[in-house]
Amino acid sequence: MLTAEIIKQKALEYGADAVGIGDISNFYGVPQQRDPRQILPDATCVIGCVFRIPRELYRVMRDQKQFYNYTMLGPKYIDEDFAEIFLLKMAGVIEDEGYDACVQRNIVNLRIQGDHSTNPEIVDTYELKYAEAIAPDKPVPDIILDFGVAARACGLGAPGMSGHILTPKFGPFVRFVFIVTDAPLACDKPFEGCLCDRCGKCQGACPGHAISERGEDTWQCAVYYRGAARSNPFMTDDFLKDDPERDAILDGKKRFNRETARALYPKLDFLPSRPTGYVPCLCGRACDIACFEHLKEAGRL
Ligand code: SF4
Ligand code: SF4
Repeated sequence: MLTAEIIKQKALEYGADAVGIGDISNFYGVPQQRDPRQILPDATCVIGCVFRIPRELYRVMRDQKQFYNYTMLGPKYIDEDFAEIFLLKMAGVIEDEGYDACVQRNIVNLRIQGDHSTNPEIVDTYELKYAEAIAPDKPVPDIILDFGVAARACGLGAPGMSGHILTPKFGPFVRFVFIVTDAPLACDKPFEGCLCDRCGKCQGACPGHAISERGEDTWQCAVYYRGAARSNPFMTDDFLKDDPERDAILDGKKRFNRETARALYPKLDFLPSRPTGYVPCLCGRACDIACFEHLKEAGRL
């Protein structure tokens, strides 16, 4: 018989660093386009798995020694390679016991209809604005889980002020996958509260001032993630040489939106992104480093 213990043991064996199982009732009230029951109507629970990103990949960015390894081994490798192999193996375990497994990787480049945010890690994102439901009571495709809601439901963590999910063991240095299933598994309690105490360290660390009390401005982040700030060691004196707003941009004082951010993207071409579609992180994820150090000092990790 398939049990929560077997699932957790297999997930750890296949490479997860933490596992939790969230009862499907935790998703009542979420929008249709985020609802796991719209993917699997008989779903009983959602299995959540955490993959850590090694701390040193962040430190070498902070010390301005290496940037490419973080992008390629963190976001790119975990989401594009490791997570997929992991999910397919886990699906096999669940299906072999006669249950369904709807595997959910991080959909990095799509946004549900009406979601005008972006993912700074990717060359660009696409809003599914032309998608239509096949019937009035059906959701508009694609259904994309809200990973923050799912992580909380599975007892794994919750988003902080930065918008990034903070976990008790690894802070924000993590990636996630989920599996929606009809297997009758014992569930964990949802994550209570949040590790974030709204200290503002992430806000102060961001060279592009992309984080505020309202959360992360993803278009502002996308510009500075790509290296628009002075702290980018790959920038030359020629960068934006004739732009009257050069200093405002380099100081993180100019505000960007979807149009102005996209207009600047071609000039923010400091390290290759073409082989994978993942943009090298040139802000060094300063927000997450500040958050990790704060949580560590506060004894919350
Ligand atoms: S740095 Fe502070 S405010 Fe920002 S997410 Fe972490 S705990 Fe919250
Ligand atoms: S530090 Fe980097 S990843 Fe964090 S909000 Fe600022 S630009 Fe985005």
